[in-house]
Amino acid sequence: MNHALIVIDMQNDFCPGGALAVTGGDQIVADINAKMSGASAVVLTQDWHPAQHSSFASQHAGRAPLEVIDMPYGPQVLWPDHCVQGTRGAEFHPELNTDRADLIIRKGFRHQIDSYSAFFENDQRTPTGLEGYLRSRGLTELEFVGLATDFCVAWSAIDAAKLGFSVRVLTGLCRSIDHDGSMAQAEDAMRAAGVTLV
Ligand SMILES: [Zn+2]
Repeated sequence: MNHALIVIDMQNDFCPGGALAVTGGDQIVADINAKMSGASAVVLTQDWHPAQHSSFASQHAGRAPLEVIDMPYGPQVLWPDHCVQGTRGAEFHPELNTDRADLIIRKGFRHQIDSYSAFFENDQRTPTGLEGYLRSRGLTELEFVGLATDFCVAWSAIDAAKLGFSVRVLTGLCRSIDHDGSMAQAEDAMRAAGVTLV
């Protein structure tokens, strides 16, 4: 019983009609729910930003969403305002089976830094605590699903592989943003890190 299903950011703002909608994001909810029954543990992540978060294009004069800027911790893609704490957009998709979750981990809650990965913030060194949770429960085999494949899923899977977990990404249960070649880049980076794409 060492297999965790990690469901990345299945929230209203990442689904059609949301502020940062991923095409087809809502189409994978039912299959993700079905997948939960076979897992030893289910972890949900929730993008959870304060209003005026530094990753929002609205906070940078003259900048538009999807432009890249240099932050003290490295390059950062700018996004539309999304997943603001306490808003409907930050809530999970209403059909997602949140009852089955053993743990809900929130990320991106510090104003000055974004967090794509479920393991580390975007400086790639500040831990979220998820590694410790999984290790202390003996969960060594991780399967990732959710949104978006080429950002939060990929960064999470790559970090998990670097940390020594056995990692699979179930691509049929993910959807991507695929901006400017980001999906091909993410697939290459995941494979290079030892992630299995199923
Ligand atoms: Zn975000």
